Amino acid sequence: MQVFQQIDEARNWVRQQRAEGHRTALVPTMGALHQGHLSLVELGRQRCEKTIATIFVNPTQFGPGEDFEQYPRLPEEDLQLLRQVGTDAVFLPDAAAMYPTGFSTAVSPPDVAGDLEGRLRPGHFAGVATVVLKLFQILPTTHAVFGRKDYQQLLVIAAMVRDLNVDIEIIDAPIVREADGLAMSSRNRYLNPDERQTAKRLSAALQACCDAYADGNRDADALQSIMHTVLTESGKSHPPVDCIDYAVVRGADDLRVLNTVTADAIALIAAKVGSTRLIDNRVIGNTD
Ligand code: AMP
Repeated sequence: MQVFQQIDEARNWVRQQRAEGHRTALVPTMGALHQGHLSLVELGRQRCEKTIATIFVNPTQFGPGEDFEQYPRLPEEDLQLLRQVGTDAVFLPDAAAMYPTGFSTAVSPPDVAGDLEGRLRPGHFAGVATVVLKLFQILPTTHAVFGRKDYQQLLVIAAMVRDLNVDIEIIDAPIVREADGLAMSSRNRYLNPDERQTAKRLSAALQACCDAYADGNRDADALQSIMHTVLTESGKSHPPVDCIDYAVVRGADDLRVLNTVTADAIALIAAKVGSTRLIDNRVIGNTD
């Protein structure tokens, strides 16, 4: 596995692979890798001859008071895991290389960025869209893999690629979960054992929403209040979540508000467990 810190070296490697006729998959990550990230590499390897992962904790997508400083950084473990799943190359730039003095350009994110995460984390999607477009420019692969775990992010990137005519095919990857349903996340490391129990409520709430839909409930408000109940009810073995940022049912294509749930809907939750903010989602009427 090749490891690059310099932009030019990584770019030349991608160009070389393309010159040799290989399809190439880019897998952007912020490191502290888990099986969810590795599944993206595996998907890249299924679709393309060569796969390059990136590890970069992007400062511009964190807001003031968020966890940029504490975000786990485990490059040696990450490289070991990437090696084990057959990643061909890794790009690990430092912040000074990505944002040299004088850097001042940013992508204005598409409309789909406006609500939910975009409303609660001002500037987040501008940071994401800008760094992802930079990675697409630095590493001109044929494909890029993103997880459905960050569902709104996936829609933001797909819209950016469409709107700015970026010549790359986006592959979306299903959410990888722990055995008890908790969506894997680098931030799960922050949870103490009690919080880890509470964190199960997010996937349980999404499950309850899907079950109600399967029982014929099509009313978005009713489905949303079912999720709120699962997240907050007391009397369970584990305490309720500390704060719900949102627990909503939206149109799957564009996150539009729905009154009645017809086809193509998605339930999305963001909630705080202790001081850890977790997100999860699930397509309604489907399993992922
Ligand atoms: P991050 O390192 O959190 O920025 O995530 C990097 C990529 O991995 C993003 O495309 C995420 O959506 C994806 N990802 C993170 N967790 C999971 C998961 N549990 N299942 C599938 N993809 C994931």
